[in-house]
Amino acid sequence: MSTHVGRSWDGPGDIEATCPCPKAPCGLIDRDNVSDECDQHPYEHMKSIRTRHSADDCPGVGRDVVVAMARTYAARNEIIREAMTEAEGYYSVGLLDAIDEYRAAVEHEAAERILSAPFRDHMLQPHQRRAAANLIDPKESK
Ligand SMILES: [Zn+2]
Ligand SMILES: [Zn+2]
Repeated sequence: MSTHVGRSWDGPGDIEATCPCPKAPCGLIDRDNVSDECDQHPYEHMKSIRTRHSADDCPGVGRDVVVAMARTYAARNEIIREAMTEAEGYYSVGLLDAIDEYRAAVEHEAAERILSAPFRDHMLQPHQRRAAANLIDPKESK
């Protein structure tokens, strides 16, 4: 039986979002399906694992949130990259675009978190949950 693991205490975190391993349906990493390129999840790196469950106990939702977190992280880095190339007293189009993308990424991540949250945390019916997510992210949430 394979095990789904993460390096944060409370479910998948930035490490899972940004590492090259394939994501399990919950957003964690399947210990039997890690990437050779990853320096966090393969056994040989001996990193502490703080979240785990067996594949049988997988909640089956959460991967969309982790994918959204990766977009937010990349958008944040793009702002920093664009800002570093900006001359004083001048706004580059690239920086403004990067800020817009960061906002869209954060809104999308928030909508995916609402859509993926366990029922016990919100008690919303599916159509209510979708309506809430659509208020934040009308284009992207599905
Ligand atoms: Zn990994
Ligand atoms: Zn899982």
